[in-house]
Parts: sequence; structure tokens; C-alpha cells
Amino acid sequence: MSDYPQLAMYIDGEWVGAGQRRVRQVVNPATGAVLGELPFADIADLDRALDAAARAFKLWRATPAEERCRVLKGAADRMRQRADQIARIATTEQGKTFAEAKVETMASAAWLEFAGEEAKRTYGRVLVRPAGIRHLVVKEPIGVIAAFSPWNFPIGNPARKFGGALAAGCACILMPPEEAPNSALEVLRALLDAGLPPGVAQIVFGVPDEVSTHLIRSPITRKVSFTGSVPVGKHLMKLAAEGMKRTTMELGGHAPVLVFDDADLEKTLGIVVPQKFRNAGQVCVSPTRFYVQEGIYDAFVKGFTERTQALKVGDGLEQGIQMGPMANPRRITAMQTLVPDAIKAGAKVLAGGEAMDGDGFFWRPTVLDRPPIDSRIMNEEPFGPVAMMTPFATFDEAIEQANRLPYGLAAFAHTNSAKRAALVGDAIEAGMVGVNTNAIAAADSPFLGVKESGHGAEDGPEGVEDCMVTKVIAQG
Ligand code: NAD
Repeated sequence: MSDYPQLAMYIDGEWVGAGQRRVRQVVNPATGAVLGELPFADIADLDRALDAAARAFKLWRATPAEERCRVLKGAADRMRQRADQIARIATTEQGKTFAEAKVETMASAAWLEFAGEEAKRTYGRVLVRPAGIRHLVVKEPIGVIAAFSPWNFPIGNPARKFGGALAAGCACILMPPEEAPNSALEVLRALLDAGLPPGVAQIVFGVPDEVSTHLIRSPITRKVSFTGSVPVGKHLMKLAAEGMKRTTMELGGHAPVLVFDDADLEKTLGIVVPQKFRNAGQVCVSPTRFYVQEGIYDAFVKGFTERTQALKVGDGLEQGIQMGPMANPRRITAMQTLVPDAIKAGAKVLAGGEAMDGDGFFWRPTVLDRPPIDSRIMNEEPFGPVAMMTPFATFDEAIEQANRLPYGLAAFAHTNSAKRAALVGDAIEAGMVGVNTNAIAAADSPFLGVKESGHGAEDGPEGVEDCMVTKVIAQG
């Protein structure tokens, strides 16, 4: 991509380039071509960002909610106007198809806009006592937030993290992924062009553990917001605990999909196949474990396999491509470990099962029939284009399997029975349950997990609420 923008950090109102700093190459995962060099922050850069955030927080928290709303909505407008350019950058550095990147850009605009509107609705309450005594319960912005976003939604995750924080009146230092950094810079540019004062939102890059340890240990940081894997989430929570800092953790998942005998077969396949292979399966809410009732099992698996084999895989910038490469070689290595392990344990390969030749990081869309319950892929988040099929007989058996793992992010079910739909919604242990739909994320609805998939929410009123603290002021 000849127009891939220059990479820089944004610290204390200035764009900071490589200079004498360490750098890392950013690579197009569809071709292996080097796109640019990313500067890494040193400790002085991080301290400068922390000081600037502390100063900016004082100003931003005192800025009227209407103005915070105007900036966030202005950024949303700019993202919509620049959607083609932003989507091209995201596809080039992360690999997802251009169409998916465009949907992500528009969703990010909606998240920023909703957060902006929500800035005006951070209410408290008044408890009226006899003799003129009052208890005021008020909400205040928590302070400076250190946020860490991963490479799989390089536009959406920064928009979510900035949106909630800025709406609440907080300042935010974000470390976006070093593998897909420019998409986050586009979100920041939209905010700055809409009038965000310097220092309120900053971006640093660097060695993840070095940056997170320094930012989290600083007394200036009051909250940690992380999206990524369960092990890294646990590590960051321990660091946050040293300073009793609040956390929002959006971690991994291993989403079950329960397909009951009475589901509409064609409609269900039309939903779940594109859902599975979106972003090459590198989605925290990606459906992974398909539990299909015995009466519909053969027809469902046959239909799923045929549709999977027909998918067009290639460079996401090309017309008609339905699945792009994996974002980095680590994901190919993970597939080369998990898929053969399942086959060795007894799973049958119905589609794919191997990497594709060429310079990019491509893995064929894969369907595995009946991997044993103790195979690694049935227990570890695959985070790749692999669907695992398992038959079940009874409702209770399906629920037991769905809830078997320590994850609890998303779960899905397909049924034409209203009663079963209600029972599934109640019985599944997950932050989000989609019944006859994959559309679980929305700007006005919280995005969140339970169990080891995390805690706290992004989006919706809850996403702003999580960036605030409650204070009681008693007046005698
Ligand atoms: P990883 O665990 O090394 O990293 C995951 C993310 O955390 C990356 O963005 C990385 O930059 C960041 N990170 C790693 N160590 C960090 C630290 N000490 N401080 C701050 N940030 C840190 O794994 P990976 O190979 O990049 O991704 C693969 C796994 O990550 C997947 O299996 C999946 O479970 C998980 N993941 C989850 C999400 C999600 O949306 N919840 C997104 C991306 C990755």
C-alpha cells in the first residue's frame, strides 16, 4: 500500500517518530511485504505521556458534557467520511477483508457516537432525609486510564476504549497492537480533528510487558482496560492489584453453538458459516464448538462443509474475497499445533486442515468432525478458521457441554421453539447469548464476559459507567 501513513506515537500533543528509539517492522499479512517501521516508547516517553495525561485529565473532567459529546460525535462523523481509507489501512496491516474492515469502521463510529451521547447521562441520586439532611450520590470520572488493545479489531478496540473513557471525562493512554498500529492512529486523528485537546487521548507503542508494567505501576494510572488473552489478562490484573486499581478485562472465549433439531437449516447455515470465518476466526466471540442435535447433525455438517469449501480465500483488498490471511505467523503455528493434535486424537477433517502455499499467512477454512472432548482444540481457544462439530442428544447434555469450559464470553443457539430459546438464554454461562442471531454487539448494549473471559463492560451505558467512580457527599 503506497499510501500507508507514516507511523508515530502521539505524546503530550506531539507526534513522536523513531529518532534514536527502537523500532519494529509492520508487515502486510497477505503478502509479507514490509509496510513501515514502528517507533517504540522508552521509559522517558511513557513518563511524559503520564504527566500529560494527569494534566489533561484536570481540564477534560471540567469540560462540559455537551462539549465532550460534540468531540466524540465529530470524531464519529470523520470516521464515516474516511471509512474507505481507514478500512484499506486496517485490511493492509491486519488481513481482514475490506468489506469487514469497513463494517468495523462504521461500528466504531457508532460506538464513539453513542459514548458521546451517554456523556450527558451520567446521573447520580439524592437521598432526602428529615431536617434538611441530604446524601448526594454522585458519579465522577475515575482518572487516567491505561488501555491495551489487540490486533484482531485494530479500529474497533481503540474506538471502544477511547469512547467510554473520554465520555466519562477520563484521560486515556492507549497502547495499540504493534502488529496493526495505524488503524488506532486513524481513530486518534478523527478525535483530534474533531477538537480533542492534546493529552486527553495519547498513543504509545512498545514492548508490551515493558509498557504495561510501567503504566500500570504509575500512581497516575487509576484504571486498566485490557482486551486480549486470558493469561495476559491475569498477569495485568496482578499488576493492577498492587495499586488496587480498577480493571476492565475483555478476554478470550470458546463460543459454543447449539443447533437444535427444529432449527431452520438453511437460515442457520447462512448465519453461522460467515460468522465462523469472519476475520479468519480471530474473533473473541467467534463460534468454535458446534453442538448439533442428532436429528439434524448429518444435514447440518454436510451443508456447513460445502459452504466452507466454496469460500474464496485471498488478499482482503481483492474483490470477492470472503476470508483473508491470519494476522501473524503465530496464528499459523497455533493452527499447526491444534489441528494435527485433534486429528491424532481421532477427529476427521471434512474441509481444509492445512496452511496454504505462498508468502502470506493463510490457513484453509477447516471443519473437524467429532474431535474428542479432551483434544486441545476443544479446550483451548482456537482463534482461527476452524469449526468443530459434535452431536448431542438432549437439551441438558448440550448445556452441560456449552458450560464445561472456564470461558464465558459468547454463546449461540438456533431453534424454532420459543420456549427452548428462553431456556437456553437462562441456562448458558456467558456474558452474551445470541439466539437465532450472531448480532450480539451493538453500540447501546454492553459487550462483556463472565468466568475467565473477564469482567467489566465496553459499549452501552455500562461502558461509560465502568470509567467512573461513585462518591457519597453527605450534607447535614
Ligand atoms: P498474546 O497473549 O501474546 O497477546 C494478546 C494481546 O495482548 C496482544 O495484543 C499483545 O500485544 C497483548 N499483550 C501481550 N502481553 C502483554 C503485556 N504484558 N502487557 C500488555 N499487553 C500485552 O497472544 P497473541 O498471539 O497476540 O494473540 C493470541 C491470543 O490472544 C489468542 O489465542 C486469543 O486468546 C487472544 N486474543 C484475544 C482477543 C480478544 O478479543 N479477547 C484479541 C486478540 C487476541
